[in-house]
Parts: sequence; structure tokens; C-alpha cells
Amino acid sequence: MGGAPHRPARIHVISRCTGPVMTSQIIPVEPFDYIVFGGTGDLAERKLIPALYHRSSDGQIVGASRIIGAARGEMSDDDFRDFARKALEAHIKPEELKPELLDDFLGRLHYVSVDAKSERGWETLRQLLGDEPRVRAFYLAVGPSIFGDIAARLGEHGMIREDSRLVIEKPIGNDLASAHALNVAIGKHFREEQVFRIDHYLGKETVQNLMALRFANALYEPLWKSSHIDHVQITVAESLGLEGRAGYYDKSGAIRDMVQNHILQLLCLVAMEPPASMDADSVRDEKLKVLRALRRIDASNVAEMTVRGQYSAGASNGGAVRGYLEELESGSSDTETFVAIKAEVENWRWAGVPFYLRTGKRLAQRVSEIVIQFKPVPHNVFNADAGRPIANRLVLRLQPDEAVSQMIMIKDPGPGGMRLREVALDMSFAEHFHVRSPDAYERLLLDVVRGNQTLFMRRDEVEAAWQWVDPIISAWHETGQRCKKYTAGTWGPSAAIALIERDGRTWHEEESID
Ligand code: NAP
Repeated sequence: MGGAPHRPARIHVISRCTGPVMTSQIIPVEPFDYIVFGGTGDLAERKLIPALYHRSSDGQIVGASRIIGAARGEMSDDDFRDFARKALEAHIKPEELKPELLDDFLGRLHYVSVDAKSERGWETLRQLLGDEPRVRAFYLAVGPSIFGDIAARLGEHGMIREDSRLVIEKPIGNDLASAHALNVAIGKHFREEQVFRIDHYLGKETVQNLMALRFANALYEPLWKSSHIDHVQITVAESLGLEGRAGYYDKSGAIRDMVQNHILQLLCLVAMEPPASMDADSVRDEKLKVLRALRRIDASNVAEMTVRGQYSAGASNGGAVRGYLEELESGSSDTETFVAIKAEVENWRWAGVPFYLRTGKRLAQRVSEIVIQFKPVPHNVFNADAGRPIANRLVLRLQPDEAVSQMIMIKDPGPGGMRLREVALDMSFAEHFHVRSPDAYERLLLDVVRGNQTLFMRRDEVEAAWQWVDPIISAWHETGQRCKKYTAGTWGPSAAIALIERDGRTWHEEESID
């Protein structure tokens, strides 16, 4: 069939207050010290400093709270403030930079030169921290190879107290053994309740909205199972290539970089049982059960359940782009820049419901989304003129813009008899409530200070995720399953399309929810 792809109308759900007007509340947090190791790096510049500025300018960071950058480079406090000012000018909207708010924020910044690999600077840091009884959050925005060194030096220099926390970023290990070793190294100095393993996807509004939709409405939960859901798709697609991360990426590949953490975390939130409460361990216990229920993929089924891909030269973002090997400046590498997996959660709720996962670089579009595809109605009561009912679909988009859409069938409004039409109920409420959608880091950074671990990964979750991923990687080697080439700017190798079409289904990219 030719013609333009079917694009359903978009209906905004207008909110009507049924009780007292609720506005989101900004509750200041008790004064704290945030020590950002790697405070001059890319993550600090693009994400951490802007996020802390936003929280400060909203009045949430008050009193004597300090933000202390720490790295090897020699810098004065003023140099670090200059660095932060430039980071803010580059990464937040000019209208959000108000002089008095900026001065207040910059006044909280300090800098200490420390080297994780030597004694340099640790005593200076200890003296700067002093003995004030306030929360200390140590954020390790540095490579994972020095996580253990920093934890050990903080311990040796007596800087870890009851109210201290440690924040670490992915990659947490390269496989189960290295993740375990890292957790052990950190665990020598910090109790598990003090360790915050950040996955910024969990801080996104849409991801939290998924929990609100599921557990604050009686509507969805009865349908949230194999009798009503046909399948689930989770896509994390990037249009960019290596962007200077070749050294790291070629040793990692798409499954370690994206599936082991972000995609499995999203899968857990879709598939988990309702927790008894939103407290950290109740939620994390349920997520862990999902990880443990994932059907093992090994040499016996890896060819059927997974597709690996690597991009070759093509077109992206309106211009010609090089292939992976050219970017890498290497004639050979079998690292996957794309992976698609048919995952199955082997429990009562999800028996027979595939979770199709895919992620890749240099794909046709930058988009991250979760699609819950409901089953069609059991019997069509409408005649041929009305058109066929299309099965309902809930689409949660995380990137580039956050949005939630419920696709439903309605009667096409107006005279002319019964005609069915698919519409998108737009449940993206930030606009209606006139609030800025915060960056995920904003919420997570202050959850650390509050000691709320609900949106952070527990040690056993990270290790269970590797326990599922490791056999897939081993099976690729064992069976010699090599990457299939795909042209940059497309949706990956044709085998990924076959993976889902074999089951009589299609990937969700052909329609936009905008
Ligand atoms: P980066 O730009 O290379 O910055 C590294 C920082 O660490 C610099 O401030 C560096 O400053 C400092 N550093 C390096 N060696 C040190 C040592 N021995 N002692 C003390 N400080 C040291 O790296 P990044 O991109 O910000 O990434 C940091 C971590 O976050 C990595 O683990 C990365 O995988 C993870 N991450 C990054 C992003 C991102 O968007 N960038 C996203 C997710 C996860 P000096 O050289 O002056 O010491």
C-alpha cells in the first residue's frame, strides 16, 4: 500500500482540578557538601553543574551548602568558578541565568587539586570539609578504574562518616566479575545504604510517570499482563556516532553501554510487580525479581533471539557520515554499534509476552521510548465501512522530548455515520502545569543528599543484569555471531526487522507520536 504513513490525530487531555490546587513544591534540603571528583570533566560541565545550578536557583540549595570540584589539575576557587560560569553559559538557556542567582551559586563553589593515584591533595580536602555535621556526597565523575582508589583514600583520610554518600556512574564493570570486584572495593569503605549507583534514565519525568500511571490508577494495572498486552518494545536510538569516545566504546559495544543498564532498568519498571511501597528496597526487590526471571540467552538460542550490527558510511543529520571502522581509524573491529534482542520474562504475568529491545548508534532518529502494545479487541462488531479497530498502544517517550501518549479508537467526530479513528491522548502534562521538565540529574543529585535510594541501582541489581548479559556476549563469541552491517542513518540491519516481523509484529518507528 502506498501513500503517507497513517498519523493519528493528537488530542490533548485537559486537566481539571477536582480538589485543592496542587503545585509542585520546592522543599529546601539541609545544608550539604557535594564533592565532585572529576569536577572539571565533561559530565560535570554538561550535566552536574547545570543541574546543581537549577536546584540552587529554585531555592532548594540553601544555607552553607558547598559544591567542591576535585581533580588533578591545579586551579584556584576562582578558576573553578570561571569554569562553572562558562559551563552554565554553554549548557543552559540564557534567560535562566539570572545574575543574583548565578552569584549565589558560584559563591558555593570551591576547588581542591587531588590525585586519586597519589597522596596529593587529600589532606587539603579533609581540612576543607572540616567537622561540620552535614551530609557529604562524594560524586565520582571520573573513570571507573579509579573508583576504588578514591573510596580507599577517603577512608584512609577519615572523610567517610555516617552521613556520607558515594555516587557512581556507569560503566559499573565490564562484566559480572569486574562489577563484583568494583562493588567489593567500594564496599570496603561504604555501606550499601551509602552507595548511590546512578542511572539517569530513572530520573526522567516519563519514567517516574510510568510508575504513577501504573500504581496510582486502577485503570492500567488489571490490564498490565499477558492476557491484555501483546508485547513491549524498548528503543534507545542515537543518531550520533562515536563522538570522540572510540577508546571506551570499542571495548564496550552497544550491549554493555546501553542494554546492561538503561534498557534493563526500563524493562524492570515496566515488568515489575507493584511494590508494597515506594521505599527503595521495596522497589529494588521487585526489579531484581524481574532480572532474575529473564529467560537465559546462550549459545543454544542466541542466533534466534539477538541481532548485532555495525554501521557503515551513510547519511545522518543531513550530511554524509563515515562508517564505524573509519571513525575508529582501524581496519577491523567486530564491536556492535547496534543490538536487538527478543527478551522474555519467565513469570506468570508475562508468559508469552516478548520484550523487543533495541539500541544503536547512527540510527535514523534520536529517540528513546517504551511502547506497550495491547492486544486487539477479541471481536470486531463494526462493518467494513467503519474501518478496523487498531489495537491500543501506550507510548512513553523519554527522548528527545518527554511525552506520554495513549492511542485509542474513537468515532470520527461529525456527521457521516460510524467511522473509526485512532487518536493519541496526549498525557504530557508539564506544558499544562506550566512547569519546566527538569533534567534527570536535578532530581537524582538531591535524592542523594536526602538519602533516598529508590531511583538508584542496588548492588545485586547491577550484578543480576550482568548475569543475564554475560552469557549473551559469550554466546556471540562461541557461535561466531558477527555484526551485520547497516548503513548509517537507517534503523539498523534488516535482520533486526526480521527479528520482530517473524513474530508478525513491527517496530514502532514508522509513526511519530508528535
Ligand atoms: P572526562 O571528561 O575525561 O573527565 C574526567 C575527570 O576526571 C576530569 O575532571 C579529570 O581531571 C579527572 N581525573 C582524571 N584522573 C584523575 C585522577 N587520577 N585523580 C583525580 N581526578 C582525575 O570524563 P567524563 O566524560 O566527565 O566521564 C566521567 C565518568 O562518568 C566516566 O566514568 C564516564 O564513563 C561516566 N559518564 C560520563 C558521561 C558523560 O556524559 N560525559 C555520561 C555517563 C557516564 P584531571 O585530568 O585534571 O585530573
